[in-house]
Amino acid sequence: MAEFKESMARRFNNVFVCQRCNATNRSGSGKPSKCRKCGSQRLRLKKKKRKSA
Ligand SMILES: [Zn+2]
Repeated sequence: MAEFKESMARRFNNVFVCQRCNATNRSGSGKPSKCRKCGSQRLRLKKKKRKSA
């Protein structure tokens, strides 16, 4: 099940959420330098909430 886990990690590791306007910023590789919407540099990784984690 390693492939599944890696694909999930890849999916969510490339999504950042702006802490200013809460816009999601998807990045192909690495962290986006700034928010695509407001230009803020305050970005955090998006976390997925699951009932059974
Ligand atoms: Zn923003």
